[in-house]
Amino acid sequence: MSYPQPKPGVLKIGRYVQGQSEIAGIENPIKLSSNESSAGPSPAAVEAYQRAGQLLNRYPDGAQTRLRRAIADVYNLDAERIICGNGSDELLALFIRAYAGEGDQVLLSENGFVMCRIHATGQGSEVVIAPERNYLVDVDALLDRVTDKTRVVIIANPNNPTGTYLPTDELKRLHEGLPKDVLFIIDGAYAEYVMRDDYDDGLALVDKLENVVVTRTFSKIYGLPSLRIGWAYCPEKVVDAVQRIRTPFNTNGPALAAAAAAVKDTAYTKQLCEQNAQWLERITRCLSELGLFVVPSVTNFYLIRFPGSQNKTAQGAADYLQSQAIIPRPVGGEGDNHLRITVGSDHENEAVLQALTEYMQA
Ligand SMILES: *Cc1c(COP(=O)(O)O)cnc(C)c1O
Repeated sequence: MSYPQPKPGVLKIGRYVQGQSEIAGIENPIKLSSNESSAGPSPAAVEAYQRAGQLLNRYPDGAQTRLRRAIADVYNLDAERIICGNGSDELLALFIRAYAGEGDQVLLSENGFVMCRIHATGQGSEVVIAPERNYLVDVDALLDRVTDKTRVVIIANPNNPTGTYLPTDELKRLHEGLPKDVLFIIDGAYAEYVMRDDYDDGLALVDKLENVVVTRTFSKIYGLPSLRIGWAYCPEKVVDAVQRIRTPFNTNGPALAAAAAAVKDTAYTKQLCEQNAQWLERITRCLSELGLFVVPSVTNFYLIRFPGSQNKTAQGAADYLQSQAIIPRPVGGEGDNHLRITVGSDHENEAVLQALTEYMQA
């Protein structure tokens, strides 16, 4: 053939579909499709961003020193083993690029972040999917699928779109069951929201083990998805490998500055976390009373299962919500009876409850 051919994996990739952000004919809809923070970032982060905006003619700090130190202080970690990325998305791509190649297998739990499938396929690796059970990551299903070709295993904990989490003992059973030469990545995009004693965010495991990595993001509770900034906590040898392929200025100056201010404002984060938990409880109670099943969530979103009978379907509810200027996220394919909705501000959540009450009682 006489034109450039992309690598074999590339054309196997389906394009990423972003959560819907508009409804035709409606100005300022309530967007609850992408698990964004309706409260926005800490005011300190906005201020730091604006200050950094006066230095756009300078390259950012390629060593990411200030942000790494701020994260290390707040989470009590070793700053030398933190790497920041253009969203945790870029970090996941870097780990997959560094550890998986053609002919290797990347093992994912069914619902894991879609981007992981895309990165692994692009590498020419085989993506192996372990089914989930009862809306939970299934440790046995994952362990059963480990082969001598498995190089990387990735789960999201808490998981998306289910909002559930793998408790400490199950997480332990999973990492203990994995061969020591398999890189085990825990995507903790929603970790800051979890308020459960039997949840382990995995950061302490990284200190103890050579094969566990945790990724985190500023896109969710910290309210900075537009700046594309995330971080990972890694064993020393993993830092060394990934630093070799990271582009030196992958994280921009305003993002580094805003994220450092955001992570330091722990009072703001704590307040958002508590408000979120209160809303989750109320939403779950109200929707259950309407006859809906809400998957128990520890995150800033919830997955609703519709009965499917008496014409009460996820699609019908999505249409009704949209007619009320609310954008939910349908999950699964056509005919799937689930909707994922982000916990928003007080008036946004009230609007959802009202619309779903009207829909269910019509
Ligand atoms: C939102 C989300 C992320 C965050 O990705 P960024 O690239 O940091 O914005 C990561 N993993 C999961 C499962 C998510 O839902």
